Amino acid sequence: MLSVNGLAVRYGPVEALKGVDIEVKQGEIVAIIGSNGAGKSTLLQTVLGLVKPNSGTVLLEGKDITATPANRTANLGVSLVPEGREVFGTLTVIENLRMGLKQKIGSVRKEQFARELDPLYEQFPKLHERRNQLAYTLSGGEQQMLVLARAMISKPKLLLLDEPSLGLAPIIVNEIFEAIYGMAQGGTSILLVEQMAHKALHLASRGYVLDKGTVAMSGPSEDLLRDERMVKAYLGAH
Ligand code: ATP
Repeated sequence: MLSVNGLAVRYGPVEALKGVDIEVKQGEIVAIIGSNGAGKSTLLQTVLGLVKPNSGTVLLEGKDITATPANRTANLGVSLVPEGREVFGTLTVIENLRMGLKQKIGSVRKEQFARELDPLYEQFPKLHERRNQLAYTLSGGEQQMLVLARAMISKPKLLLLDEPSLGLAPIIVNEIFEAIYGMAQGGTSILLVEQMAHKALHLASRGYVLDKGTVAMSGPSEDLLRDERMVKAYLGAH
């Protein structure tokens, strides 16, 4: 689905990525772990086309999208949920979801929208309960569900998630992760950036550890969870 090869990104003197290789297969959840400043957000932004790499390639289903701007990449089926869960606070849950579809297809017909909502409400029953509530009145966890649902309504092939657990209580994080698992079960490929290494690796089938812009470790999650260097550097607190 996604193949990132030798990706290098520089912001002036800062080398944010220094030749990164990453693969995501269809329906797979892949975790990107790493400390602050490791280059995780830069990786997601470069895949989407918000940041232009200095070298390397990004292939989506074998098609070179390295130089493709973000709006076109989105139309090809890539969706980014950035850190910070920005909902349209003064719009209701339903209106937020309609915006998600509108961004993808322009105008939205009523019947079409209703059709798209059903599976989302099934996956996120809380959003159904709160569908007429203004988004700013939702809890942090519900807002995170709303941004995930808003990304899903455009049926992306590849979902890029930047720290969906940030600032949420552990029990809510579990709910969010269950929803992410459900999305992958439905065939969406997911590249998940997370500080919560332990939880992320339990969810993902494989993981990559970014350290100062390079892939320091990678492999199946169960191997990484047992790796002594991993435990020492990223998993020790659990
Ligand atoms: P965090 O977990 O703190 O979000 P990260 O792993 O996502 O960190 P990035 O945000 O990708 O890391 O940043 C990688 C490096 O690039 C950091 O040194 C950061 O300061 C730098 N950087 C990121 N964005 C820019 C920018 N727009 N201009 C200049 N430097 C940047």
